[in-house]
Amino acid sequence: MDVRKRDRLLRELGITEWIRRREAVPPGTLVAQPLGMASHAAPDAGSAAGDEPESDARLMKEAIDRPEVSELQLKHVSWGELQATVDQCVACGLARTRNKAVFGIGPEKAPLMVIGEGPGADEDARGEPFVGRAGKLLDEMLKAIGCSRSDNTYVTNVVKCRPPGNRDPLVEEAEACRSYLDRQIEFVSPRLIVGLGRIAAQRLLSTELPLSKLRGRIHQYGKNATPVVLTYHPAYLLRSPREKAKAWTDLKSIYRFLQSRE
Ligand code: SF4
Repeated sequence: MDVRKRDRLLRELGITEWIRRREAVPPGTLVAQPLGMASHAAPDAGSAAGDEPESDARLMKEAIDRPEVSELQLKHVSWGELQATVDQCVACGLARTRNKAVFGIGPEKAPLMVIGEGPGADEDARGEPFVGRAGKLLDEMLKAIGCSRSDNTYVTNVVKCRPPGNRDPLVEEAEACRSYLDRQIEFVSPRLIVGLGRIAAQRLLSTELPLSKLRGRIHQYGKNATPVVLTYHPAYLLRSPREKAKAWTDLKSIYRFLQSRE
């Protein structure tokens, strides 16, 4: 987004000050929170420690201590405002370790929405979900069912910022980020959500069941009971090509479902 446009949007939202990653910020500085979130100390993005890997325990504590972004706070934001808010969000510890928040890609309204677990290193560098080999395989999977992120599929993740070391996003981090995802789902208004991989499935559906027990069924998500199906993450399929046959079965079901709802 154009910087001046983003700044104007943030001013309209009452956000007049925010942290630019890697700029020096005096310790203890309070930042204006996106959309009325309670203030808390900003990450010291300019310090050497700010670039060091965080321990999971510390990140978990921060995730618990920080307020979640509520559905109410995001109720009246536009798509652009939502993206600007995500770009500046510090609602969980992942804000300390990201380079770029990864909002999502695809049309704002789409019949299909694909949700992975979180950005990896390439995604964090580019600010775009599913790039690299896994992204290419995802694009091929979508193409096989007549879908693409440039046309009719919105692609995002459960958490918008990269967990350090590509670890799984914590439950607390997914919950801190859930209101953004819920608002995205409201905007995109998909006929079907496809969750990719065990972690996305578990965080989306708030369950600990393994993917093997979750695949092959239609679940429901959110207040609109949007149908959800689950399949393998393309990165897993690259590591375990023998599972591609099962993923193909899932894709055929997804195709049939979309056709039946046209
Ligand atoms: Fe905010 Fe989500 Fe990023 Fe956490 S992962 S800082 S809640 S945008």
